Amino acid sequence: MNGKVARTDEEWRELLDAEQYRVCREQGTEPAFSGKYWDCKTPGAYRCAGCGEELFHSSSKYDSGSGWPSFWQPIEPTRVETDDDRSYGMRRTEVHCSQCGTHLGHVFEDGPKPTGLRYCINSASLDLDPESE
Ligand code: FE
Repeated sequence: MNGKVARTDEEWRELLDAEQYRVCREQGTEPAFSGKYWDCKTPGAYRCAGCGEELFHSSSKYDSGSGWPSFWQPIEPTRVETDDDRSYGMRRTEVHCSQCGTHLGHVFEDGPKPTGLRYCINSASLDLDPESE
């Protein structure tokens, strides 16, 4: 896919369920250990719930113990963008889909090698595309 995906608020509300809308469009966070992918070990690509772009792959997923799906790198660096997030009295780095702006989660610098990064992502922002054998 090329170029940005732009949708009206009405279209987003139609496309996403209420929890997905809260997370993806309102920078919400699903409760830890509540999402459908935090403990998922199925091989495949995780697509953006907002536009379908492949953002993360199971080969970069690891168990961070956080209760959210955690990856040490995106499929391509350019598929995600970051923003400074100073909400809730914290200083964090927000991560969103570079194509459609869907909020994905945050990235922290306490991840495993080789990147040392932990992309802490909401299940609600992802759709797993399982690999067929
Ligand atoms: Fe997207």
